[in-house]
Amino acid sequence: MLRSGISRFGRSRSAAAFVSLLERLPTAADRLSVLTYHRIGDASLDGHLSPALISTSAAAFGDQMAHIARRYHPVTANELLAARDGQSLPSRSVLITFDDAYRDFAELAWPILERHGLPAVLFVPTAYPDASAREFWWDRLFATLRALRPPTRLATPAGDVPYRSARDLMPTYRRLVAIAKSLSHADAMTWLDEMTAATDLRTGSLHHILGWQELRQLASAGATLAAHSRNHPRLDRLSDAELADEVAGSRRELDTNLRMPSPPIFAYPDGAHDERVQQTVAAAGYRVAFTTRRGSNSLGDVDWLRMRRINIGQRSTLPLIRAQLLAPTVRTSAARRNGLEPRQTA
Ligand SMILES: [Zn+2]
Repeated sequence: MLRSGISRFGRSRSAAAFVSLLERLPTAADRLSVLTYHRIGDASLDGHLSPALISTSAAAFGDQMAHIARRYHPVTANELLAARDGQSLPSRSVLITFDDAYRDFAELAWPILERHGLPAVLFVPTAYPDASAREFWWDRLFATLRALRPPTRLATPAGDVPYRSARDLMPTYRRLVAIAKSLSHADAMTWLDEMTAATDLRTGSLHHILGWQELRQLASAGATLAAHSRNHPRLDRLSDAELADEVAGSRRELDTNLRMPSPPIFAYPDGAHDERVQQTVAAAGYRVAFTTRRGSNSLGDVDWLRMRRINIGQRSTLPLIRAQLLAPTVRTSAARRNGLEPRQTA
């Protein structure tokens, strides 16, 4: 409701003038907003990969970054870690993050970021680069659905799901994603393998992930690369041993392949974290970890291993993003006390 309210607010002309005024006023220096992007590009249903991961078009991303460069203080990973150590950040601080290391980060996003001199953190699931047979499960699910001919019924661990017509492609996809996320990672992958086996989908055709050589080039050009687990499972559904391997192993693989130490920054796959996951992340030496909980962070009251982010999706117009960047921060302690945790999926 808050989101649709902000969205309506963002579209009116007087509201735009008001937001513009607010952006010029001095604001509290203890606030950090973090933007989350996944993919940049064309969100049509004709592509091979799931359009659900497209955050925005290249043109809209260019507009968004021009605005950030003009009105906000873009934060580097070093500044983030200095803030973790108690240093203050300038007002209107924004950190730009990208999850999953898709190829379009290098092809479309990075040239725009470079043009505006904007730093960014790219979170890499480290079992994927150069592993050409490995594909993200959500892309395989989307491609599998596209390869099936509706009307049909899909057997799932949660019962049969009807796929009535091509028009139901995205609603059916979203329903199956929700079922996959309700299972253990291993069970979800087994089910997906069974479903894919009924199609003529070629393994590896959906691997659009940057390789280590390209990641090294991005790192030497100034992009910050950080850990995002190895295999991108929901960490809260793993055994202790699997969890430790995903969390510590990811940074180890990143450091080895980039041939340099990566910053102690982590992003939880799918935002999934609990007390045990956080403890494992802390024990592995990470100092800052990002969730998908929506909102900006108030640095005086922040849980550094549960940082909030603002997910950019296809409905995130520039006015909406500007309104979200100015929205009041949620006090972590108060939100916990009242059970008010804004949620979002990424
Ligand atoms: Zn991810």
